[in-house]
Amino acid sequence: MIRHAQRPRLPLLIGCTFLALAATASPVRAEPFAWPQVQGPGSSVVLTYSFVNLFDPAFQGIPPAQVRAATAQAFSLWAQFAPLHFIERLDSGPPSSDMDYAADGHPQIRIGAHGVDDGLLLAHTFLPIAIDVSGLAGDIHFNSDSTVIWGIEDGSPTIDFLEVMVHEIGHALGLLHVSDVDAIMNPFHGFRFRRGEPAYLLPADVAALQAIYGAGVGSVEPVPEPSTVMLACTGLALLLARRRRITPPR
Ligand SMILES: [Zn+2]
Ligand SMILES: [Zn+2]
Repeated sequence: MIRHAQRPRLPLLIGCTFLALAATASPVRAEPFAWPQVQGPGSSVVLTYSFVNLFDPAFQGIPPAQVRAATAQAFSLWAQFAPLHFIERLDSGPPSSDMDYAADGHPQIRIGAHGVDDGLLLAHTFLPIAIDVSGLAGDIHFNSDSTVIWGIEDGSPTIDFLEVMVHEIGHALGLLHVSDVDAIMNPFHGFRFRRGEPAYLLPADVAALQAIYGAGVGSVEPVPEPSTVMLACTGLALLLARRRRITPPR
């Protein structure tokens, strides 16, 4: 059984996108930190993800469509190099917090935000261990404190939601920090991505990922935006109406 108070954390690094370690001395802990891959490295792993409260106005007002698109983009970077299949689900489970909860039936990677009493802490993520008892495993929490100003590829001083998401997904998959500056898993926010240019992983990140899951290609299945579905339905309805109109009477 994992108890929050017993989890040792990695030391805080100033200015980093910080990892909250869900590590424990429990004998059920898995090594390395990873999701189960029943048929071994290179075989498919399906992981569900959800948005807990990132669409609330409190999360710095990044439009939901941009949050969802950036998240899908971040997952797709990792899915390019390993057989990981990410499927968005409607969220279920408790509000975003560091209180432990049972994993049963909830999306595996629940992405949310809560205030963290440290403006230098941008986000933290619980590593995928002991998933049979802890719903927190794989969960990503962004700092919603007003001291952190979020944007998407807006440049300094705005913190890049996309870069932090890519980094935190790395943790959610079991990757730890590396000191190599040429790695997304370096613990410092690097303002690496530029608007209009593709985001990327670096070779050290790919090597760390494939050391756990093997090489392969995965996929991302986001849930369509409600407005997109509505537009598609409207378009279909118009098309049907037009077809009906131009169908000659029998
Ligand atoms: Zn980190
Ligand atoms: Zn948290």
